[in-house]
Amino acid sequence: MSEVGIWESDKKVRPNRVQAHAGVRCKFVRHPDNRDMSSLHFTPASSPLHWSILNDELDRWHAAGLTASFWWRDDDAVKNGPRLEKLFALSEQFDFPLCLAVIPANLHGSLKQPVKLSSRVCILQHGYAHIDHSTAKEKGACELGLHRGLKTILDELKYGRKRLSQVFGDHFMPVVVPPWNRISDQLPPHLSQVGYKGLSVFGEEATRHANAVFTVANCHCDPVSWKRGGVFVSTGAALDQLVDRLVVIRRNATSEVPPTGYVTHHAVMDHAAWDFTEMLFGTLRKHPAAEFLTAAEVFSL
Ligand SMILES: [Zn+2]
Repeated sequence: MSEVGIWESDKKVRPNRVQAHAGVRCKFVRHPDNRDMSSLHFTPASSPLHWSILNDELDRWHAAGLTASFWWRDDDAVKNGPRLEKLFALSEQFDFPLCLAVIPANLHGSLKQPVKLSSRVCILQHGYAHIDHSTAKEKGACELGLHRGLKTILDELKYGRKRLSQVFGDHFMPVVVPPWNRISDQLPPHLSQVGYKGLSVFGEEATRHANAVFTVANCHCDPVSWKRGGVFVSTGAALDQLVDRLVVIRRNATSEVPPTGYVTHHAVMDHAAWDFTEMLFGTLRKHPAAEFLTAAEVFSL
């Protein structure tokens, strides 16, 4: 079993496939390594054609009497500042609930007040200290691998949860967002046992870990190209991540429409990624077939 099973499992499934299972919220797969400039839609960046592709797909949802649900996660929050203020302003402007994944060990007191003043912002737990403890055998950085021992990991997480809960009160939701979207495949059942209600990584939901009291809800669109140093992926590539998923879900419509997660990284995003985010939120907000969910709705809290 892979030490980072949830993440690694993405590689074993062909991209752009949805596997329908009873009671499963989502099974869309698109490994982030496939996120590059290879858009299927060869139009210039920011062309209205790109956005018509999203609008046209949402029109199809509307015509079918369906509503596409979206949620928004932002990672690596530790303190207030201009970039955080920009996130909060976007949340306010478009009335889009913001799920802020905060690193407990690095939390700065300046984050408390703006969160407390907002009714649209909730706090998720971004691991403990965002430190890479991966071994040489593992691919990629990982804080929540189990080689340090289950007790050590859970003690850190519980300490972090206590701190976030003390600082943010009711704004805190007991949901773990693993740093680098990586977590040992053996850990989620233990998260549930110590009181966590949910888990969120990127890509395919590992629904084997979900149950009546523990929700797995991931993000599926990331406007940042990590392979190219954190620049914007391109309008076409970002919209492909969303539209491809919407198409597959619509065609495999079940009684429960899974939410589509959009993840931002305020600390590294360039102007193009911010512009895309604003355009995306505006487009979704205007469309009658799109709705924005709160963390409480996404994670059934
Ligand atoms: Zn992170």
